[in-house]
Amino acid sequence: MAQMTHMLTIDVEDWPQSTLNFDLPMTERAADNMRRLLDLLRRHNVRATMFVQGMFAEAFPALVAEMAAEGHEIATHGYSHRPVYAIGAHRFADELTRSVALLEACTGQAVRGYRAPDFSVTAETPWAFDILKEAGLLYDSSIFPVRTPRYGMADKPRRIHMLDNGLWEVPLSTIEWGGRRWPVAGGGYFRLFPYALTRRALQRLEAEGMPAVVYLHPYELDPDEFASIPHHVPWRLRLSQGLGRRSVADKLSTLLNDFTFAPIAEHLASLQPYSEVSA
Ligand SMILES: [Zn+2]
Repeated sequence: MAQMTHMLTIDVEDWPQSTLNFDLPMTERAADNMRRLLDLLRRHNVRATMFVQGMFAEAFPALVAEMAAEGHEIATHGYSHRPVYAIGAHRFADELTRSVALLEACTGQAVRGYRAPDFSVTAETPWAFDILKEAGLLYDSSIFPVRTPRYGMADKPRRIHMLDNGLWEVPLSTIEWGGRRWPVAGGGYFRLFPYALTRRALQRLEAEGMPAVVYLHPYELDPDEFASIPHHVPWRLRLSQGLGRRSVADKLSTLLNDFTFAPIAEHLASLQPYSEVSA
């Protein structure tokens, strides 16, 4: 059957450092999980957009180079994983520049896209998009057009669109059901619900003419991580972040068999002549 090309995006980071304590060092486990995911993508011949944290590139430059060499798009996930609303414009710009320099040194290729840690671009950070544009980036993929306790901008468009300053916005996928929007393509939804729900969500997006933007973290394929973390992890966090991990590799394999994926930058280039996109 003729298929729409969707976008698979991976936020490349280390669970304890990104979630428990920003001052922790990157662990080898983060690299091991990334290698496992890279193997899986290779087996399915799928190329993704990798939003790589600057600290990860600093710790594992050869692995980032390998990811780029295999055709994955290397984009930035900032440097330290501190939320955008918490660090302010000045430090945001610094972290962005630092992460882009680290990534470009690994790959020799220009970084085109950005995703905020925990989707932390909000109504309180209106300066973020201009800073991204001034840094020469082509797109942002930080907006979750949904309202949740932790993140989300429910009033934003669900479709890929161009912001007033010329930056593309590539929102995370949501579907509308029962009078509200639901985040459907990643995180806890992918881990906890049966795969059939994700498949139905992608079919629904296809029917709307909207390619899906799916997101995932390498550590979500690691069911044994919590048994080995040498730090205290509150039980609520352990549950919300750990449950369902054992099912992720199989679900992802099925998803990659059922649908077609390409990196975000390639999708944007297909929307209109490349010269216009990169202008
Ligand atoms: Zn992240």
